[in-house]
Amino acid sequence: MYRTHNCGELRIADVGKEVKLSGWVQSNRDFGGMTFIDLRDRYGITQLVFNSEEDAALCERARKLGREFVISATGVVRERSSKNPNRATGDIEIEVKELAVLNASKVPPFTIEDETDGGDDLRMKYRYLDIRRPIVRENLVFRSKLAIETRKYLADEGFVEIETPNLIKSTPEGARDFVVPSRMNPGQFYALPQSPQTFKQILMVAGMDKYFQIVKCFRDEDLRADRQPEFTQIDCEMSFVTREEVLQTFEGLTKHLFREALGVELPDFPRMNYDEAITKYGSDKPDLRFGMEFVELNDLAKGKGFGVFDNAELIVGICAKGQAEEYSNKAIKELTEWVQRPQIGAKGLVYVKVNADGTFKSSVGKFYSDDDLKQWAEAFGAEAGDMLLILSGEAEKTRKQLGELRLEMGRRMGLMKPGDYKPLWVVDFPLLEWDEEAGRFFAMHHPFTSPKPEDEEKMLSDDFETLKSLRANAYDLVINGAEIGGGSIRIHDRKLQEKNFKLLGFTEEEAEKQFGFLMGAFEYGAPPHGGIAFGFDRLCAVMKGQTSIRDFIAFPKNNMGRDVMIDAPSEIDPAQLEELGLKLVDK
Ligand code: ASP
Repeated sequence: MYRTHNCGELRIADVGKEVKLSGWVQSNRDFGGMTFIDLRDRYGITQLVFNSEEDAALCERARKLGREFVISATGVVRERSSKNPNRATGDIEIEVKELAVLNASKVPPFTIEDETDGGDDLRMKYRYLDIRRPIVRENLVFRSKLAIETRKYLADEGFVEIETPNLIKSTPEGARDFVVPSRMNPGQFYALPQSPQTFKQILMVAGMDKYFQIVKCFRDEDLRADRQPEFTQIDCEMSFVTREEVLQTFEGLTKHLFREALGVELPDFPRMNYDEAITKYGSDKPDLRFGMEFVELNDLAKGKGFGVFDNAELIVGICAKGQAEEYSNKAIKELTEWVQRPQIGAKGLVYVKVNADGTFKSSVGKFYSDDDLKQWAEAFGAEAGDMLLILSGEAEKTRKQLGELRLEMGRRMGLMKPGDYKPLWVVDFPLLEWDEEAGRFFAMHHPFTSPKPEDEEKMLSDDFETLKSLRANAYDLVINGAEIGGGSIRIHDRKLQEKNFKLLGFTEEEAEKQFGFLMGAFEYGAPPHGGIAFGFDRLCAVMKGQTSIRDFIAFPKNNMGRDVMIDAPSEIDPAQLEELGLKLVDK
């Protein structure tokens, strides 16, 4: 037997017991005559003591143990004279009588502590050491808890867990596919699924009624921060449901997960139209942990001789409470440069500070009297000490830019509080998005999303504006400014699906070739259905108040899509290439 207890388990009540523990040497401290070892496993750390007066040889062996050696130690639990209140086992220690070295270890390339000296790539190369760090380990344990609670909740709701294939067919819509050559079918390729979307819909046609799967999805996109080429979804689909039932079910799942994994009771989730989210927050995933809602100034600010505003489609701003004093001219200049960075792309930034004496200080003070500015301040509900930040230009772009500025101000003002969770449903997305460059519509969600029932008729129209105004029966779950999930009620009628493909620029042949199997299935009694998928990695990160999903994935890829531990992707053997009927060409 390697152990009677784990390293996180023993308490003052266990004093006097003879125990055996196994684990890794976290640290080894020698106090002339006494050697203290912190022994670590998945559950915690327990202090071992070796006393040279009791057993000089044993103490000498202990002194030589290096960090990360794997050992087991047998001894008696005793009360510590100097207790460590920061550790669950901090009241006790083990007076060791027997020691066995189970395996030696090289000196680890970084410290195995929450605060480590290891850089990202080093940590990923030695991910097995990284995962020994409590902070990473706890993230994985948390993830496991969420997966288990997800299964419990959905099983209770009558969902069936069904696996769908990973080797499927490539489709051009959406992101780029990862492809896999088929040896048995030379010159032909499978694709890895970007999501099980068509399969889960076919399961509804098959009568499975309530499906779920915690499933890997693959998207060959350029990696932005916090994107992974493979990621996990909680993927679901239901038959004979309206939007309302889908939202209730998955609001229920979300509340269940927060309750079970965090002990947090979430109130009912508010709902917001896409249009409202864009006009109030400049984003379809607003962070509602703070207000700072947009106020539009077109009526108040035009026609006073300030050309920039006069020529702008939209003048819109936010009120940063109590920030007037915080922002010197220099700080305003820095903030202006921030909005002018190419990632944001604003031309300039107008500010108005509300002084305590009722006067104003503004970058556009030349054009606007204090009376004018007072009207602006009133529109924002601004008080003395507040600062208005205003952008102008083409409406859509300006809202987006101000949305970024709002988040930045929220960050700077400390308004994104950890432990504060603000979920909401964003609903009524546009069905189609016009792409100027490509000269065609794209599906805002995906091509299987149905329009809102009242817009179904309009879908048959050929009028551009009518088509642009179509609303989708789609919804997103947003928490703290992060998109956690998205879904829709689907099209289940062949004719409507054909029409949608046509709007998206597919010829009849293309649609048939790529999605004929789905439209064919629709002809055999497809029930009305809808569903949703949660980004599981993101959900973990947001619940833990973190921004990086990587820390919740056991073996993530780096920014170049590489796994640096196993060194993938890698070249393959010429013989393997040949067998696959592939030839490398020089670029
Ligand atoms: N399959 C969709 C996605 O991956 C989610 C859904 O519509 O259920 O975003």
